Amino acid sequence: MAVNGVNGVKTNGHAIQAGPVIRVASRLIEGRALAQDVWSIFSAANLPADCINLGQGYMNFSPPQWAKDAANEALSSVSGNHYSHPRGRIRLREALKKHYDPLFGRDLDVESEILVTSGANEGLYSVLTAFLEQGDEVIMFEPYFDQYLPSVVFNGGKPVYIPLHPPSAKQNSITSDDWKIDFEELRRAITPRTKMIIINTPHNPVGKVFTREELEKIADLAKEFNLIVLSDEVYDCLVFDGNEHVRIATLPGMWERTVSVYSAGKAFAATGWRVGYLIGPSSIINPSLAATTRIVFCSVSPLQEAVAAGFEQAAERNFFEIQNKEYEERRNILVSVLDKIGLKYTLPQGSYFLLLDISSLTWPEDFPFPESINGRGRDFQACWFIALQLGVSSIPVSEFYCEEHCGIGERFARFAFCKDVDLLKQAGERLQGLAEYLR
Ligand code: PMP
Repeated sequence: MAVNGVNGVKTNGHAIQAGPVIRVASRLIEGRALAQDVWSIFSAANLPADCINLGQGYMNFSPPQWAKDAANEALSSVSGNHYSHPRGRIRLREALKKHYDPLFGRDLDVESEILVTSGANEGLYSVLTAFLEQGDEVIMFEPYFDQYLPSVVFNGGKPVYIPLHPPSAKQNSITSDDWKIDFEELRRAITPRTKMIIINTPHNPVGKVFTREELEKIADLAKEFNLIVLSDEVYDCLVFDGNEHVRIATLPGMWERTVSVYSAGKAFAATGWRVGYLIGPSSIINPSLAATTRIVFCSVSPLQEAVAAGFEQAAERNFFEIQNKEYEERRNILVSVLDKIGLKYTLPQGSYFLLLDISSLTWPEDFPFPESINGRGRDFQACWFIALQLGVSSIPVSEFYCEEHCGIGERFARFAFCKDVDLLKQAGERLQGLAEYLR
């Protein structure tokens, strides 16, 4: 008997058609891994061919040439084509140490405090594998990066959601700093089963750069309740308007309980290289190494060399300062269009996402929405309408909330500005057409 999807779950079309005896593990269902997700609904295949893709968070430009050269060189060598040490290639760990020592105010040990992973995703997955027991609770802020949920669930954990609270739709000139944590709500969410809290700063998709004061309050709770902090800082090199990126691991008493997660994909516009790194105390890094060794054994060798070269030369080339300014300029292109037509948005202080407030946007009642959009939030309709009518894709934010809280996210559409200036200007011109549909 062929079933539609697996275990009765509607799939995104890629999944296996299960027969009566082949049942997939329930963790795939609980981790929402088989459900049709936002990426498949808003995939290029479903949208008009000339639609400008500001939905997905990857760049339409290349990593720096000097880093690519290092990958080519590694491919021409013998060792660059073979296994690396599961901790990561020593050249990369040394380069990371040089870059991050001053940022952490520590003399990082390349043997036990830095671990190279296959992207930040696999890094955080390794930490979860290393530390979660069945039923352990993991607190995450909403909107959350969508890999957290399956990664926690696959490892036996239970996600506990705490929303960041956006300001009222009536407020003008909203910045990402206006999205607030209710610390009483956070405290109430902690139970004897709480093992870990995931924070993400700069934040995807809000762009929030958590303030020192907010991080101190989170740190106090982590110490009071003996929690591990998984600090996802993949956008640490993208902080705008002179804001300060504070690493929670550097706050008093926090090094011992914090693992910080980074991504060469974001740092060097190389999301497909799948190189990331964890920094933390040996008590967290060594168990995570044990997990990563069993998951992937090691990360891709020639691309580790490329990232090593990236960090080795970044300072003399002023790479991160220049890149940061470029992203700020990209952000401002979108912002100036939205200001012009009077649409509200959250000005991101970091990362490369901008949230458009779609409350005032309307569309014809008889606009033809596909079945995949029906029954989803208003943001799904808004994103679909903007993509079809104006030719710019974005991502509905309610996807990054639990069911109970998805009403908060329904007010927003996420636009990624990790695209070159020309494309963003083109998108900006198209988005001006939104002016016609405001109430
Ligand atoms: N964390 C966040 C908040 C992200 O936005 C992303 C990438 N979209 C990742 C982790 C994963 O990074 P990587 O591509 O290095 O696995």
